[in-house]
Amino acid sequence: MEVATQPKYSQIEQVQSDLREGKLTCVQVVEYYLDRIEASKELNIYIEIYAEEALAKAKAIDERLQKNADDLGRLFGVVVSLKDVLCYKDHQVTGGSKILTGFTSMFSATGVERVVEEDAIIIGRVNCDEFAMGSTTENSHYGPTRNAADPSRVPGGSSGGSAVAVQADTCLVSLGTDTGGSVRQPASFCGVVGFKPTYGRISRYGLLAYGSSFDQLGVLAQSVSDTALFLEIMAGPDEFDSTASQRAVEPYASKLSFERKAKIAYFGSALDHPSLDQGVRSICQGLIEQLRADGHTVEAVDFDYLDYIIPAYYVLTTAEASSNLSRYDGIRYGYRSSNATNLMETYKKSRTEGFGTEVKRRIMLGTFVLSAGYYDAYYTKAQKARKLIQEKTFEIFEEYDFILLPAAPGPAWHLGDNVDDPVAMYLADIFTVQANMVGIPAICLPAGTHPEEGLPVGVQFMANRFQEADLLAFSQKVMDALPKS
Ligand code: GLN
Repeated sequence: MEVATQPKYSQIEQVQSDLREGKLTCVQVVEYYLDRIEASKELNIYIEIYAEEALAKAKAIDERLQKNADDLGRLFGVVVSLKDVLCYKDHQVTGGSKILTGFTSMFSATGVERVVEEDAIIIGRVNCDEFAMGSTTENSHYGPTRNAADPSRVPGGSSGGSAVAVQADTCLVSLGTDTGGSVRQPASFCGVVGFKPTYGRISRYGLLAYGSSFDQLGVLAQSVSDTALFLEIMAGPDEFDSTASQRAVEPYASKLSFERKAKIAYFGSALDHPSLDQGVRSICQGLIEQLRADGHTVEAVDFDYLDYIIPAYYVLTTAEASSNLSRYDGIRYGYRSSNATNLMETYKKSRTEGFGTEVKRRIMLGTFVLSAGYYDAYYTKAQKARKLIQEKTFEIFEEYDFILLPAAPGPAWHLGDNVDDPVAMYLADIFTVQANMVGIPAICLPAGTHPEEGLPVGVQFMANRFQEADLLAFSQKVMDALPKS
């Protein structure tokens, strides 16, 4: 099997300058990625490939390029894959679930539409955990995706297909979603950039809902500059999502220089925690040393609420999921059981047969925490914990620009390792969930290779709400300073 290679292009600028100079055609760019998809088939990245359509679009772009390159959109020549929870008009979307088998979107997600309008080429939809619930991409109806650095390892999740799609160079950029780390943790496991904006920065319209007060679209790419350009294009108000912010979108991609010295906090309780993998710790510490040497202030701060983050997150997200997923009833979308003889049985059997184990576990957990007798004990309490975690996090940002954390407690583990222990799996989300609980932007940068395991390891930075411009500019600085592997 052919696995990770040096990518042909690691930045949009490179592919566009080659196209402009006529070094190759857009059709050839698409053919290159289609070949890469074929070569990495055993990693099980793509659920569906839009080969003909992508080639036809490339041909049209080549013709327009001949006429006037200046008329093209900002993403011409950029080949993109979509996580299978993002709607793309007239294409299937299944949320990695059997229950949406055969369902075709009637409209595109706003983020997808804005990218397509800028002449990006969508090459296919990629695998993910069912309804984005999971940390390994093993909870997919389509089987697990494998990590290109070592195919016996998981790619992380739930946007595992997106991370490997970029890692294995089958597309330049992939769009994912992040409810509790689903863009950043797989980015860490696969050695790519993974970014989640402030809650509401990008419209959630057309994203199959999991935890609506947490969900955000995110970007997986090879570079910070591509990430910034995608954010710039996708962000902004949307009449179809009242939670999309009205705040003006900044020209993130042209504001990537960071000249001042940053003040960065990290949690001693996280970096010194005995359960943190040694190799991950040493990569974080190495980066901290380097940031200090570059004149930035990096200080340990106390944060006593880490232990509450996971329980509160899993109460709140399962509650929201139990409500969001009630729409999949065997009547309105996709799969309908053929073993039912009346309406009630149709609901029950379609849901029983259509959902996987993890999704059912979460629907039941969510229904339980919302039930009259337990609502206050669990749901209300988790909301209070969320509020407290938000306040304490904002207090840190009164003094610091960024918070540095690992993205995951270790490098990618082996397929099958945690599947029988959902709680262990949930606990591994410890470092990513905070950003979603608080609604702040966060990015995972490929920071090094694990000294013993030889696997990619990412480091995460979080910033205050709507500080994307600063976070991305600083990330660019960090990437420039990191040794190139
Ligand atoms: N692993 C987390 C979960 O299972 C995060 C998932 C996500 O961000 N979509 O809920």
